[in-house]
Amino acid sequence: MRGMADTLEIIDLHAGIEGKEILKGVSLTVRTGEIHAVMGPNGSGKSTLAYTLMGHPKYKFISGDIRINGESIVGLPPNQRALKGLFLGFQYPLEIPGVSLANFLRISYNSLRKDEPMLVRDFRKLLEDKFELVGMERSFATRYLNEGFSGGEKKKAEVVQLAVLRPKFAILDETDSGLDIDALKLVSDGINSVHGPDRGIVLITHYQRILRYVTPDFVHVMVDGRVALSGGAELAQKLEEKGYGWIKGVEEGGGELRQPSMPDAPEQNH
Ligand code: ADP
Ligand code: MG
Repeated sequence: MRGMADTLEIIDLHAGIEGKEILKGVSLTVRTGEIHAVMGPNGSGKSTLAYTLMGHPKYKFISGDIRINGESIVGLPPNQRALKGLFLGFQYPLEIPGVSLANFLRISYNSLRKDEPMLVRDFRKLLEDKFELVGMERSFATRYLNEGFSGGEKKKAEVVQLAVLRPKFAILDETDSGLDIDALKLVSDGINSVHGPDRGIVLITHYQRILRYVTPDFVHVMVDGRVALSGGAELAQKLEEKGYGWIKGVEEGGGELRQPSMPDAPEQNH
């Protein structure tokens, strides 16, 4: 038996962008210690859910609630949501010229742990460990955040950030997309290394592939802004075999699920 888990509750959440309602009543409860996979066809609202949870200003909350340990966070800006333990790994990580990856991580880390800031020297050691975890060279530490990083390197940098910050609840939006098989394994190792009783992980993914390395406790399928179906890890297996087309509400042809074998490989001549 473990103690009381922390909870992230998404309650009948409606939200939208550009005046259009995208999330049409999403309900989901994540407890620390659990891994939830959120799957679904392109355009079903997965990234909108991620951004809305984090409080991105472009995404408008309409109704429902988002609660951490029973307390609503919908009125809070992103940095205060981070202080409550929420983290978002972006599907398309931003490039920030002028800020090195190491400085970005140290500033983020210290802003979340104001009472126990880490010395530069200690932080460097911590970073080295995390870089090693995902197979990134140390030289990335002094490079500007994501600038000129390949798709795979950006995703690894998100996992480094996750492993350094160790948030209570991590929302990872397609952290697996565009990775070749070796990078996918390293990214999975990174995610598994932060998994534990003190963390809840929401793994947003279009493909079943990463779920061979990171085993979810729950799998949810989003269709048209709602959770259409939930199950255990076996649901991901069924999706691998049958695609999304059989789920009620999924349009014909909208269920393609097979991953191209090496999407991030160098351009090839056909
Ligand atoms: P997913 O991540 O599941 O592929 P998204 O949340 O990115 O889905 O998109 C859900 C819907 O919201 C799509 O129909 C998409 O076109 C729409 N959408 C997303 N971003 C914008 C935007 N900036 N402006 C208008 N519509 C958007
Ligand atoms: Mg998306």
